[in-house]
Parts: sequence; C-alpha cells; structure tokens
Amino acid sequence: MTVQRILNDKGSAVTTCRPADTIANVAKVLADKKIGAVVVTEGDAVRGILSERDIVRAIAGQGDKALGKPASDYMTENVVTCALHDTNDDVMQIMTGGRFRHAPVVEDGKLVGIISIGDVVKRRIAEIEREAAEIREYITMA
Ligand code: AMP
Repeated sequence: MTVQRILNDKGSAVTTCRPADTIANVAKVLADKKIGAVVVTEGDAVRGILSERDIVRAIAGQGDKALGKPASDYMTENVVTCALHDTNDDVMQIMTGGRFRHAPVVEDGKLVGIISIGDVVKRRIAEIEREAAEIREYITMA
C-alpha cells in the first residue's frame, strides 16, 4: 500500500496555518477539525509543523501567555516528509524513528497531503486481517 493509494482513499486535503497565526487560533482549528497537527506554510513553502504536543509544551512553559504567541515560536522547523511512492511500512518507520505521528506528503516541492499515525495503523490492521484470512483459506483448502 503506497502513500498515493492512502491519499486516493482519504483525500489530499491538508490543514495549514501561517507562521504568524496565534497558538490560540491553531488550538481552535485542531479542536474544530478533530486533528492533531497543522502544517505551517507561507505561500507554497512548508515552514514547519505544529502539533497538539507543541501546544501542550507552550502552555506548560508559558501558561496562557503562550496562547497569543505565533505558531512560528513553537513549530518544528525541520519537517520530515514522505513521498507518494513511499509504502505504509516506510511511513511507519519514519514516524517511529522520528517519534512523531504526522508526515506531510511532498512531491516536486509541493505539499500534496498528510498521513497521520491513524491512517498508517488502519491500513496495517487491514493488511494483517487480509493475511490472516488468506492463511485461514489456505489451511482449509489443504
Ligand atoms: P506529534 O506526535 O505528531 O504530535 O508530534 C510530536 C512532535 O514532533 C511535535 O514537536 C511536532 O512538532 C513534531 N513533529 C510532528 N510531525 C513531524 C514531522 N513530520 N517532522 C518533524 N517533526 C514533526
């Protein structure tokens, strides 16, 4: 299962914010859309990623003052991305290695989607169930 197929399935919409958007605004977007991270963009360029963990860290460190601070103060600038040809297993390894749960999809320098750990786990479970069904069928045929 490739990232391209996952995006065909779930769609390629990515929720973004601008570097100057406040932490309070981003928190509202995450809550409204029931998502865990936004990609921080400026025009076509990816500037960073800001997840719920960054917001928790911001509030733990600065209290409610953090809510008025810009996303750029707390985002991770070094964004690890994946590509359309990557497999579900590749993305699982990227997330496990980096200890994060979101991987923006970039193709020819453009943001074309995002994969979350939920997307990856859902496909892995489906794969395992398919393999188990195949083994059961093989056994009953034998
Ligand atoms: P998450 O597990 O996605 O909520 O993110 C945990 C931490 O990793 C936060 O500080 C995020 O800003 C950062 N992070 C999330 N996704 C990525 C990514 N693809 N590349 C680099 N950092 C990330």
